[in-house]
Amino acid sequence: MSDCLFCKIVSGDIPANIRYQDEQLIVFDDINPQASTHLLLVPRKHISTTLDVQKEDQQLIGHIFQTAAMLALELGFASDGFRVVNNCNEAGGQTVWHIHFHLLGGRNLTWPPG
Ligand code: 5GP
Ligand code: ZN
Repeated sequence: MSDCLFCKIVSGDIPANIRYQDEQLIVFDDINPQASTHLLLVPRKHISTTLDVQKEDQQLIGHIFQTAAMLALELGFASDGFRVVNNCNEAGGQTVWHIHFHLLGGRNLTWPPG
């Protein structure tokens, strides 16, 4: 997707502070952090929204959650608690149309979200 912001970060055309990457996903700092740790877990494959996840993507989505847990452990806030968030479509708060998961940790997170 030539006009997709996160595809451009995946390809390296737009810089980001990459914290982890493997053959399936990259993880980088959110440009507007909402917690002391606010990472974005982004599959290399362009999937626009949660509504576009296919059966063939099940392993990928599971891998993203396992990676979030691994990073929470590594960063030291796993036992305190953290949040993994996906926003879908406008009312859900989605602003970038390439599926991604926010990993928020390092503070007490309130519920319900705004
Ligand atoms: P959404 O609102 O779609 O769930 O999340 C998109 C996230 O991408 C937002 O938290 C926003 O701060 C972040 N973001 C937007 N543009 C950039 C960018 O150019 N670089 C990085 N690292 N994050 C971005
Ligand atoms: Zn994309």
